Parts: sequence; structure tokens; C-alpha cells
Amino acid sequence: MRGWRQFRTLLEGKALKYGRQFRVISRWEATSQICSNCGFKGGKLDLSIREWQCLNCGAKHDRDLNAAINILVAGGQSETLNGRGGQRKTTASGSSSL
Ligand SMILES: [Zn+2]
Repeated sequence: MRGWRQFRTLLEGKALKYGRQFRVISRWEATSQICSNCGFKGGKLDLSIREWQCLNCGAKHDRDLNAAINILVAGGQSETLNGRGGQRKTTASGSSSL
């Protein structure tokens, strides 16, 4: 998966930028057990388990990627990128299936 590589590079860049913030969140291990899709807590994962499937919504997760998403979400709460008026207008350019 090439996209995963890019995402990881992006994360590492973010980690450098927000290095302090990343360290503050000491729930790295726990976040790998929480479904980034629905928030379901999957329970303890053995370190050898790289991928797991959410028992609640059935989403498949890469352990690290899922944890990273959860941390980004948790870290993003302090930032207000689009705090309000977050209505994104999506113009159907090209894909006019309706
Ligand atoms: Zn889930």
C-alpha cells in the first residue's frame, strides 16, 4: 500500500511538529484498541497483532494506523481548524451520478 506510506510520512511530520503534544497523550497503547470508526473499545491487543477487526462495526484496522487516527482526533480537539461553520460545500465536479 503506497497510501499508507505517505500517510505515515505525514504523521511523522506531524509528530515532529507537534512533538510535545504527541508525548502528552500517553494513551498510545489504549488508542490502538479503540475503533477509530465507531469508538468501540476492542480490549487488549497482543503486541504481535498488527490488524484487528472491530466487533461492533466490523471495520478492519491496522493497529498503528488506528491508534494514529485516534491520537490525531484527540489532539485535534484542542485545535480549531474549522470550529464552526464547518459546512463543506461539495460541488459535484465530474461525478454527476444523481
Ligand atoms: Zn468499530
